[in-house]
Amino acid sequence: MNKLFLPFILALSTALCLQAQEADREADSLRHAFGRQQVAPTNTISTPYADTLDTGNPGVKVVLYDNGTYRFVRDLSQMAADSVFTEFWDTRNVNPYRNDPDPIPDQFSLWIVDSLGAYCCPNQTKPRSLFGYRHGRRHQGIDLPYPKGTPVPATFDGKVRISDYVGGYGNLVVIRHANGLETFYGHLSERKVESGDWVSAGDIIGLGGSTGRSTGPHLHFETRYRGAAFDPAWLIDFETGTLRHRLLKIRSWYFNPNQRYVQNVDDEDEIFRTDEEDRIAAEEQAKKDAAARAAAEAAAAKYHTIRSGDTLGAIARKYHTTVKKLCQLNGIKETTILRVGKRLRVR
Ligand SMILES: [Zn+2]
Repeated sequence: MNKLFLPFILALSTALCLQAQEADREADSLRHAFGRQQVAPTNTISTPYADTLDTGNPGVKVVLYDNGTYRFVRDLSQMAADSVFTEFWDTRNVNPYRNDPDPIPDQFSLWIVDSLGAYCCPNQTKPRSLFGYRHGRRHQGIDLPYPKGTPVPATFDGKVRISDYVGGYGNLVVIRHANGLETFYGHLSERKVESGDWVSAGDIIGLGGSTGRSTGPHLHFETRYRGAAFDPAWLIDFETGTLRHRLLKIRSWYFNPNQRYVQNVDDEDEIFRTDEEDRIAAEEQAKKDAAARAAAEAAAAKYHTIRSGDTLGAIARKYHTTVKKLCQLNGIKETTILRVGKRLRVR
């Protein structure tokens, strides 16, 4: 274990040595860099793990894989009492948020996968049918080709809210994730989980099929936030299988039932802080730094009271400085007459 933890401990002690302010600034820049990252899907479906170890944090475990790698995983069941898993919790109703009085904000950011979370692509493929109206009917998800009997993995860690046969969805599994996001998996031939089960990304939750209103085996995949569906393509590039960003910015107009993912809006400068904002922040920081330097200088200032017979040269020698520096500090010239009793700044 020592070997495994060494890089972790080294990183931690380095972080502790940093000045608090520097650490803050570094964390901020990491947060932005980290949030922008794409996430490749994990392959946990086919990687059996060898062992699970406790850490000092009861909410975090270390999973050791047979191939010698390891991963820190969050034990989500520790969050059972969290309101995200207790409020608007309904094991039958597809949208339990209908009577939620709180409106969804105009725009907000959701951490989709943080350093402890994982992501597993539902299926890396060209979607068969996209989000939005189709033959005059609302289509709230994306259809992925899925041969009957193919295992369907949970996209992220979470808790199964619905595992049931629900009208047009056929066999449906709905998973709620700790960030409030829900993922829907419809038309399954079989369901492999029960409502209330805690699942990790990559766990098999069912098998592909064609139950419900379906014209052949496929997976109907939805992403919803507080009951409102948005195009899963904002989150996942299905053709490459990658999660577009760890941090997803959601705007209220994404919930328009006819709004498909638009690539040019998913522009990093717009989604995260713009360069202009970065520049302004840097300028403000520079001003603060200058003010701090001036304050430190003022605190270290030292004065000499001029006595009869003093010359700039003699004062400079006495305080180990130069005539030029004395002139600068006091805004005087070398020829300025020194008046007895006046205070001269020497440092
Ligand atoms: Zn569909």
